[in-house]
Amino acid sequence: MSWFRRTTTPSAAALLQGFWTCARCGEEHDGLVHLSAFAPDPWLGDDEYEENADLRLRGNFLSEDLCVLNGEHFFIRGVLEIPIRGVPDSFGFGCWSTLSRGNFDKYLCGFDDGAYPDMGPWSGWLSNQLADYIGTAPEALWVYPQLDRVRPRFRGQNPAHPLAIAQANGITPERALELFAFYGHAPNA
Ligand SMILES: [Zn+2]
Repeated sequence: MSWFRRTTTPSAAALLQGFWTCARCGEEHDGLVHLSAFAPDPWLGDDEYEENADLRLRGNFLSEDLCVLNGEHFFIRGVLEIPIRGVPDSFGFGCWSTLSRGNFDKYLCGFDDGAYPDMGPWSGWLSNQLADYIGTAPEALWVYPQLDRVRPRFRGQNPAHPLAIAQANGITPERALELFAFYGHAPNA
């Protein structure tokens, strides 16, 4: 009889606050897995970053913080945070938002020293998929610039959208693990 020796698995909340070995990627994760999109989804150019300082406003450009498409579409990288209930740190999705040329210029103004002409929020369109929160319909964001070279924070504009609801109310630790599994990270094979 071995039923009484069955090991209990740690709760999802406990798992997300300690180190765990990932059955999918083999890495040891320190609590939360933070996901990051390399470029806006419409980007079809090189898979290497140029330096921010080499920004070109004509043609195509991609650095780790800035992107220009066809000299017409302007994107910045920020963080979409989703709180997890019972876990002190938020899940962070590094992703891209469009900005108008005017707000893109404001972002460049304050990029090094935080001296933005205004602190927003600026309006943009989320430019990456996030699991099943975001379908094919464009999703509007509020973009909040941050000081001290911290990446901008993004919030969904439509309070009825599942993404904005998740940001406002938080998600369960189990839901967070589903998100990680969607992106190839899971505690169990
Ligand atoms: Zn992993």
